[in-house]
Amino acid sequence: MPTKLTHLKGWRSAILHSIADPNDVGIEQSYEYFPDGLLVTNKDKIIALGNAEEILKNYPDLAVQHYPDSLILPGFIDTHIHYPQVDVIGSYGEQLLDWLNNYTFPAEAKFSDKEHAKKIAHIFLKELLSCGTTTALVFGTVHKTSVDAFFECSEQYNLRMICGKVMMDRNAPDNLVDTPESSYQDSKELIEKWHEKGRNLYAVTPRFAPTSSSEQLHKAGQLLREHNNLYLHTHLSENTNECDWVQSLFPEADNYLDVYNRHNLLTERSVFAHGIHLCDSEYKTLAQNGSAIAFCPTSNLFLGSGLFRLDKAEQHNVNVGLGTDVGGGTSFSMLQTINEAYKVIQLQNTRLNPFKSLYLATLGGAKSLRLEDKVGNLAVNTEADFIVLDYKATPLLDYRLSQSKSLMETLFVLMTLGDDRCVKHTIVAGEEIKIS
Ligand SMILES: [Zn+2]
Repeated sequence: MPTKLTHLKGWRSAILHSIADPNDVGIEQSYEYFPDGLLVTNKDKIIALGNAEEILKNYPDLAVQHYPDSLILPGFIDTHIHYPQVDVIGSYGEQLLDWLNNYTFPAEAKFSDKEHAKKIAHIFLKELLSCGTTTALVFGTVHKTSVDAFFECSEQYNLRMICGKVMMDRNAPDNLVDTPESSYQDSKELIEKWHEKGRNLYAVTPRFAPTSSSEQLHKAGQLLREHNNLYLHTHLSENTNECDWVQSLFPEADNYLDVYNRHNLLTERSVFAHGIHLCDSEYKTLAQNGSAIAFCPTSNLFLGSGLFRLDKAEQHNVNVGLGTDVGGGTSFSMLQTINEAYKVIQLQNTRLNPFKSLYLATLGGAKSLRLEDKVGNLAVNTEADFIVLDYKATPLLDYRLSQSKSLMETLFVLMTLGDDRCVKHTIVAGEEIKIS
């Protein structure tokens, strides 16, 4: 066999991926499905996708891994999650502002210790990978060490990850605040060390408007202007008490989003978590700037924050991805996040089609992060990040899927009953990750 072929691998199974937003093209045009499909990878890239028998004609000597009773999907994309909050997932009894003070801030204080940060980064990434999530937009803590520990770990797995140091100079405990200048300097050093190094990308990460002074938000905007392709990652309009607080802290702003807009923080790589209590002009401003919202259903329900208006985001052409928002969210699993998203939409008397859910969890997330040429579907020349879901993962799933009469039904059942138990294999950059 010629040397150049030794890196080729074939992956045979039913294969499904999104190719467009169902809202733009209709459900039937939004996906490709191969009941007996074959994906061919060369090192870290996908080089062929289609019906197995046809593709195999072009690769007669290909080594093929065959997965019957399974479904290959692109790796999931989580557009909003906090790695330091592994310690507080499932904490009882509070809404956002008390939950931050009583649970989150004490847990985040421990991340000044690099060893602790490394330990949690490993636990966090293993959990994401075992749930089939291969790309995420991730909050660190205010400590520079937290981001170093995260990227060192993500680099070991060769993951496409986005992370950033929290900028927070007020309304937080003394051991968790920085200053406008120190946050600028620390962020800048981290950007130079990690941004676009390997598969790592950096996000400028003011926690949310109440914990940053105007001076610090200006510094965040300055960082965005000084470097190419940086992300802006923050929270927006999650809880009504939070919204009132923002109005009192920034009385000159027209609305919550306007606080960020006045500091030049709206770009096509800006991702705002939640966006529940928005007015029409805020959706319009998000769309005009090409910024995205991370829809985090398990968190929005768990913290009693409210119901995200997907219909409004669609009407205004705002990019939307799904986020788990662990630890306000209650599951790392994107399948379980989709399950809860469906219920959030049901409570608004409308339906979330499973192909739309697939889009939100994969290609829609990638588009929100401007990574759709790299991840989010299985198109030729994209990066080979994908998962193998097991139709027989549990006795109930096995039985229920045996009754399924259509691909849509199979997908919906997987999204309703499925979780990390379904994720049999996680392949990153063409290599299966062994999670131990
Ligand atoms: Zn969050």
